[in-house]
Amino acid sequence: EKTNGNFISEAHYCSTPQCWGLLFSSGRKANGPGTEDPSVTLFREYLRLKTVHPEPDYGTSETLLPCPVCPGRVVAIITWVGSRPELKSVVLNSHTDVVPVYEEHWKHDPFAAVKDEHGNIYGRGSQDMKCVTIQYIEAIRRLKAAGKRFSRTIHLTFFPDEEVGGHKGMETFVKHPEFQKLNIGFALDEGLANPTNAYTVFYGERNPWWITVRCPGSPGHGSRFVENTAAEKLRRVINSFLEFREKEKHRLNTNECFTLGDVTTVNMTMVKGGVAYNVIPAEMDVSFDLRIPPTVNLQEFEVKIKAWCKEAGEDVTYDFAQKHMDQNFTSTEESDPWWHAFSSTCKAMNVTLKKEIFPAATDSRFIREEGLPAIGFSPMNLTPILLHDHNEYLNEQVFLRGIQVYERLVPALASVPPLSGEE
Ligand SMILES: [Zn+2]
Repeated sequence: EKTNGNFISEAHYCSTPQCWGLLFSSGRKANGPGTEDPSVTLFREYLRLKTVHPEPDYGTSETLLPCPVCPGRVVAIITWVGSRPELKSVVLNSHTDVVPVYEEHWKHDPFAAVKDEHGNIYGRGSQDMKCVTIQYIEAIRRLKAAGKRFSRTIHLTFFPDEEVGGHKGMETFVKHPEFQKLNIGFALDEGLANPTNAYTVFYGERNPWWITVRCPGSPGHGSRFVENTAAEKLRRVINSFLEFREKEKHRLNTNECFTLGDVTTVNMTMVKGGVAYNVIPAEMDVSFDLRIPPTVNLQEFEVKIKAWCKEAGEDVTYDFAQKHMDQNFTSTEESDPWWHAFSSTCKAMNVTLKKEIFPAATDSRFIREEGLPAIGFSPMNLTPILLHDHNEYLNEQVFLRGIQVYERLVPALASVPPLSGEE
């Protein structure tokens, strides 16, 4: 089945990855009675595709057209045109890549999609986020089979390289004319599992700042008390950053309502400098990974960093390898029509939502940077958070329940009445 046949595929950005043959193949087998739900079978088949970094197999050799912007990468879009295609669309986004594994730490082959006696399906991507991809597809398949149609157009979008920063994926695509053509009103993207009965939803993300602080100093012989050394400056820099780290950690641990998304994390991740035991180096550098919540004033925060560097030494400088400044977050006010559609549907299903800031980064940030609302949501409750971890799994019942959640959410979002400016 190829939805309505309404592909946007004359656009050469969109092509067919290996998974398409699988996902929309007409030869989908119905399993016998008392056996596995075909949605689960499809999910397990998808888990077996090795779209794993550092060399993900996106199936580009079989693609119809290579991506002109990022060769070897595939962006796929399938569109279900609404009855009022002039209205803004709803995007169901997912990424197709997964992070590497340490196979020796897994109880089962991470690419075999083994299901144990409890119905737990093990596989890299079972939570992040091949589950969501198949849940979207299965929900759409069921809605179409039931003869439904909605006023707003729905786009299923599948992106490569989210796990390596999205440079050859969403980051590039949002600047491409094809992105504008999608006429997006609202997007759903990935979230995280929740060990309780609630589902977590993410309405914003922390900004990653990757910073290197450079400490020059007087070189000299390792036998002397040379003044103004790089190491002394380096020590002051490290102390300032790590003292701030302690404070933020304390804030997180002493405030019951805080999650990781509410505080700034600081981690010292690289140190460079020196050539020999007996040579005092002319420069030492230290790098930090900072993740800053959207509630922090970023300009003031940078002033603070500047001051730490200055206190460490007049010639201490810094530069950014990554500096995100986006402080957009998506409205979760009941007056917001998109949020209202989302949350009232969940309420009607007796689904409890927990609103959070996403602690890391997803492709949603590029969508929000374009000023569009996006909610991070992976319907996985009663599940430990195992993304990027060994033995990542999802229970088949939780997976199937997630399809039902989308079967309700998608119609609600695709039926949001025309907003001001849309008519
Ligand atoms: Zn992910």
